[in-house]
Amino acid sequence: MRFTYVTLFSNLIEGYFQDSILKRGIEAGRFQVGFLNPRDYSASRHHKVDDTAVGGGAGMVMTPQPLFDTLNTLGREAHIIFAAPVGKPFTQNDAKRLAEKEHVVFVSGRYEGIDERVIETFADEVFSIGDYVLTGGELPSLVMTDAIVRNLDGVLGNSESLEYESFETALLEAPSFGKPPLYDDLVVPSEYLKGNHSKILELKSALSECKTKYFRPEQLLKHKIRISYEK
Ligand code: SAM
Repeated sequence: MRFTYVTLFSNLIEGYFQDSILKRGIEAGRFQVGFLNPRDYSASRHHKVDDTAVGGGAGMVMTPQPLFDTLNTLGREAHIIFAAPVGKPFTQNDAKRLAEKEHVVFVSGRYEGIDERVIETFADEVFSIGDYVLTGGELPSLVMTDAIVRNLDGVLGNSESLEYESFETALLEAPSFGKPPLYDDLVVPSEYLKGNHSKILELKSALSECKTKYFRPEQLLKHKIRISYEK
């Protein structure tokens, strides 16, 4: 799989691939990354990429020409994603679905965002990573990349770690405990220590419901609806 980042600030993205799981994923040939800078495609003498908004308004907007010329260099197989607060919320299902693509392109906005004509012309999808506004699309592009590549074969050491994670079902993952079982006077639930795997699974499933009810009650409702539908 291949990722291309269309960004004015590739340095912000590159560092993330220089360590840990994503670095190993690249070294093992599971995916590749590349960068395109719209400034390199600007037809203006000073490589300008932004201008004031038509019709007024605060701040600068990324103008069409540099981005049209950048995105027109991509092949037909490219699946182009714009990061934007107005996009649809990015989910685990999107991460899994996008892991099947051959080439994903992330376009990062800066300033007040990107001229809408660019998005209308090139976007296969527009995603938000949450209900808040960041200074640029680089972090959202990385967040989405990280969630996608975890689903590629051979990127995570232990494929089981995907199976029981939060959002694989509507429920959040049950609490995890690392060794030792007794730390200072803090203990783990005693059932975890008895070695009866079906009992442990039962307890984990109850704890997973509790956690979901506390942190994400709407997810628990989804889970209950799904269960009653399956009955
Ligand atoms: N004026 C825009 C608005 O109110 O929707 C915000 C622009 S923001 C300062 C600049 C860029 O950061 C956006 O073009 C987008 O690429 C990125 N961005 C900011 N917040 C984001 C979020 N929650 N999800 C995805 N991208 C985001």
